[in-house]
Amino acid sequence: MTLRLHDARRGGLHPFAPIPNRDSIGLYVCGVTPYDTGHLGHAFTYVSFDVLHRYLEYLGHDVIYVQNLTDVDDDMLRKARETGEDYLALGNRWVTTFLTEMAALNWLPPDHYPRATQHIPQVLSLIEKLVSNDLAYAAEGNVFFDVSADPSYGQLSKLSRTDMLPIANERGNVPDMAGKRDPLDFVLWQRSLPDEPAWASAWGPGRPGWHIECSAMSMTYLGTQFEIHGGGADLLFPHHESELAQAEGATGDRPFVAWWTHAGMLSYDGDKMSKSLGNLVLVRDLLRTYPGDAIRHYLVSRHYRSEVHFTEAELAVSAESAALLRRACVRAEQQSPADPALADVVDLPPMVAEHRTRFLAAMDDDLNTPLAMPELEALARLALDATDPHVTAQAGWMVRELGARILGLRLTAVPAAVRSTTAA
Ligand SMILES: [Zn+2]
Repeated sequence: MTLRLHDARRGGLHPFAPIPNRDSIGLYVCGVTPYDTGHLGHAFTYVSFDVLHRYLEYLGHDVIYVQNLTDVDDDMLRKARETGEDYLALGNRWVTTFLTEMAALNWLPPDHYPRATQHIPQVLSLIEKLVSNDLAYAAEGNVFFDVSADPSYGQLSKLSRTDMLPIANERGNVPDMAGKRDPLDFVLWQRSLPDEPAWASAWGPGRPGWHIECSAMSMTYLGTQFEIHGGGADLLFPHHESELAQAEGATGDRPFVAWWTHAGMLSYDGDKMSKSLGNLVLVRDLLRTYPGDAIRHYLVSRHYRSEVHFTEAELAVSAESAALLRRACVRAEQQSPADPALADVVDLPPMVAEHRTRFLAAMDDDLNTPLAMPELEALARLALDATDPHVTAQAGWMVRELGARILGLRLTAVPAAVRSTTAA
């Protein structure tokens, strides 16, 4: 079987294959803008791509995982102005919070964790290429991407030009910025206000636009063409559409990215989770009651592209399911302290082999974790109920192999919150 993954540009699922003649697979995921607290919606995105990262490695690929930090942009600078704090200090504070929460969810840290402020030369050289390719123009100390010069703009989102503008305006576009020829043209370089950080450039002191930061950082670590680019579904337009236009416009190498993949949004109380609506569910609040494995189990039980409507009752169910998986692992360890050579799948008891095959088939189907999870639970029940110690050991070890290695559950210590609500 082959892993098939959804690609937004081509539409539908496509069999995954690395770009020929490369040693590693490139996986770039748009990271946080560290100006405020993260929420469970962010965790869903990063845990989803963590499962992809783990599954690609399970399949034998060498993955270079890059996740950026947008540490200079309008939101960062606005928040720093409000709190009177230096924007980099503000960013560092929230990055620490983000990393602590993601560590509690057993997230594998990226190979590269680049910051926009440390990639200004790469941003400037990309803008120079776009200007010399007649895809960008300078005006009033700003530089804009000329959307009318790129007939392929829209290839990712499939939006009409008329539909694009209101969405872009909702997501950071300033339609009447000084010097813009068309309200949809997006900013590559902008003149800094007197109290904002500024870097020298051929167009005067300024700072980078949001989209160009990601193009510069992804290409710095993964080259002009790579396999997978991810992020939350709300980044598809204009952020990813613009990243694509900049990268292909500057280098001429197409396609820039083979698979554009997006994680669904989380809602709570009937609305998309957002700070402005005040309906945020915070990971650090949930961690006071639930172990990291319960939260991770809840997140990985949802398909990564689905819209998730969070309820605490379902999280409580996940806490019990995660505890069941852990008990199966513990029982297997008691039966057989040594790893019974799982690589030798020929020797697996037939029922263990069948659940494993169905689990992997579900994962190959665009990471269909909601279909894979019941197979894992069935293995756990097998491990707990079997009278044959060989079946218990193999089923329990298979729970660990699939649940920990691929889905990233810890399945180890018994946190107090679980111990008090479940029987051992
Ligand atoms: Zn990005």
